[in-house]
Amino acid sequence: MGRVEGTVGYVERVSATERAGSRSGHSAEDVADLIPMVRRIVHARVGSHPAAEDLVQETLTRVLAASPTIEPGMLEPYAIVTARNVVASMWRDVDRKHRNQHRVVDLSTPDPPETQVLLDEEQSAMATALARLTERERRTLLDHEVKGTDTRTLAAREGSTAGAVAAQLNRTRARLRVEYLLAAAQIEPPTEQCRAVLLALSSGDQRRQREVHAAQHLLECEPCAGLSQPLLERGQPRDDRLTIPVTTDPDIVTARGAARELASRLAFGPTDLTVIATAVSEVCRNIVRFAGTGEVVVNLLEVPRRGIQIVARDGGPGIPDVERALDDGFSTYGGLGLGLPGVRRLMDEFAIASEPGHGTTVTMTKWEKADHE
Ligand SMILES: [Zn+2]
Repeated sequence: MGRVEGTVGYVERVSATERAGSRSGHSAEDVADLIPMVRRIVHARVGSHPAAEDLVQETLTRVLAASPTIEPGMLEPYAIVTARNVVASMWRDVDRKHRNQHRVVDLSTPDPPETQVLLDEEQSAMATALARLTERERRTLLDHEVKGTDTRTLAAREGSTAGAVAAQLNRTRARLRVEYLLAAAQIEPPTEQCRAVLLALSSGDQRRQREVHAAQHLLECEPCAGLSQPLLERGQPRDDRLTIPVTTDPDIVTARGAARELASRLAFGPTDLTVIATAVSEVCRNIVRFAGTGEVVVNLLEVPRRGIQIVARDGGPGIPDVERALDDGFSTYGGLGLGLPGVRRLMDEFAIASEPGHGTTVTMTKWEKADHE
């Protein structure tokens, strides 16, 4: 029991250090500050519905997930808009469940005609969106996405550079998302400013969001508020995987913060986030102390369920006796920290592969708890 208490004390200390060293940008604390406001909005719409607290949590989760692409002044308006959307989508879900229940009862009922209508509508919205691109944008995008032509080949054809083509492709994708959503929702933007705002959101360009006063616009323009959510979610860069080189002590802090940030996009509670950050700390410290150099790869997993996987690799001397290193009585460095046995206890899955003279790989996973657990 004494060992467990010692572990808890250590965990709390790490957490306090991290708060003090928190870098600029949105943190979980910024999002936590939004809780009273989000709760007011949700309760104003659903009263004391049993799902109210879930809706508050869902809103905060989405705001946290989108926060890397949101400029600081926009966090609050975005939270307001998100809360509204989350409440609205709950009613849609309830409605859908009713319909599906009916289908389960009567299996002989063929697919309702609206399924095909939905597919047709999606295709026609995409066609409309593509038609709103310029000829050159459309050709470059389709060559790249459909035919698989690489950016260097496209650059040679356009008399440009691969980097410029890649940037152009990103802008085109951002525009296509905006036009697709507008066409699918059959919305003609009510103001001149709308497309500029939507494009700034879609590309995740924070400077541009400020320039076009996106925050203010979302609060005043109902159609743009409705589209902002899918845009911010889809506009996020694909950064559900991070590789952090680890050589010195500051790298440990970087790796820990990065892992925590990625993990916070899943439904991990504060305790699990601290546990994950602590485990990353420990494996990084092993790299710095014993191998000198290595890397940590942090991966968000979707299958078999949602979770975070951390792989720590080094090319150091290796661990001669892995069994012994995992023995609870064994301490790698004078009793400081948790050591590998402690890390193994913190995580749901843990594996070490080590080859003396060639290095060590630690692979560990923490699963998001299922809703009903
Ligand atoms: Zn608008």
